[in-house]
Amino acid sequence: MSELAQIQIAALKAVEEASSPEALDLVRVRYLGKKGDLTSLLKGLGQLLATERPAAGAEINVVKDAVQEAISLRKQQLEQAEMDARLSAQSIDVSLPGRAAEIGGLHPVTIVLRRIEAFFRGVGYEVVEGPEIEDDYHNFEALNLPAHHPARAMHDTFYFNPNILLRTHTSPVQVRVMEERKPPFRIICPGRVYRVDQPDPSHLPMFHQVEGLLIDRASSFADLKGTIVEFLRVFFEREDLQVRFRPSYFPFTEPSAEVDVQCVHCSGPGSGCRVCSSTGWLEVMGSGMVHPRVLEASNIDPEEFTGFAFGMGPDRLAMLRYGVDDLRHYLDNDLRFLRQFH
Ligand SMILES: [Zn+2]
Repeated sequence: MSELAQIQIAALKAVEEASSPEALDLVRVRYLGKKGDLTSLLKGLGQLLATERPAAGAEINVVKDAVQEAISLRKQQLEQAEMDARLSAQSIDVSLPGRAAEIGGLHPVTIVLRRIEAFFRGVGYEVVEGPEIEDDYHNFEALNLPAHHPARAMHDTFYFNPNILLRTHTSPVQVRVMEERKPPFRIICPGRVYRVDQPDPSHLPMFHQVEGLLIDRASSFADLKGTIVEFLRVFFEREDLQVRFRPSYFPFTEPSAEVDVQCVHCSGPGSGCRVCSSTGWLEVMGSGMVHPRVLEASNIDPEEFTGFAFGMGPDRLAMLRYGVDDLRHYLDNDLRFLRQFH
């Protein structure tokens, strides 16, 4: 039993001196483990007389409990110390300035689309969207572009099959609106359009259009001109911006006109620069009075109603407004480019 007393003293000392949870665990194994000193003593009880065993066993168990309790206590102390050390190492200085959140920006084409929409909403137009996958009828036929019409060659179309295609312009949205509603109405249709094209500085196989359409009882070419001139002056933020209408041809309008603005990079007509190919003018839109056949195709009586339509390319308008020299920048996702528009 003096051996028991010595073991108790040594064990409690070892517990006290253990400086980490790992060291403490080694102490536990040494005294309380399967081959530990106290376990061995308990196993040795068999050699004692039967009358001595209960008392000896009880004494050993008292020591075992005492060592077990000392280990638990020490374990708590060590864990607390470890926690304190970690907390003081990770302390937070609440007086430090915060880290600013990175603020994103809108894509230049989105900015331009929103400006266009804001103007037209302001003068009573409704924004309408339609499907990007279209059928031949809505994309061509209903717009006075029957099969084998030569103007179809201008639309290098992505076909899924002979009848289903990726829309080559946003005009089919107008057809859908004319089919579903009774005039008068005024709408603009922004969206993506697709044409087979090798990407280069001024062509992409996917680009944007905004199409406008007004159908009413007394709409005239003068209304068309007034609307477009006013829009372009607001868009380019120049009250005296010169605008000209050039006779042109589109199958779905008659008469048709292409719209030029004075070059926004040089002084316009009379001067000239690289952007305007030295002409002083920049082509920005197509327009015209809706062709009677297009109205008829959608069951609108051309004797009662007239209308005008126009279409523009927001990608090109964004190029002109922000001085972007290559359409491909729009799709590169290069932050050095995109951050300039924040
Ligand atoms: Zn110019």
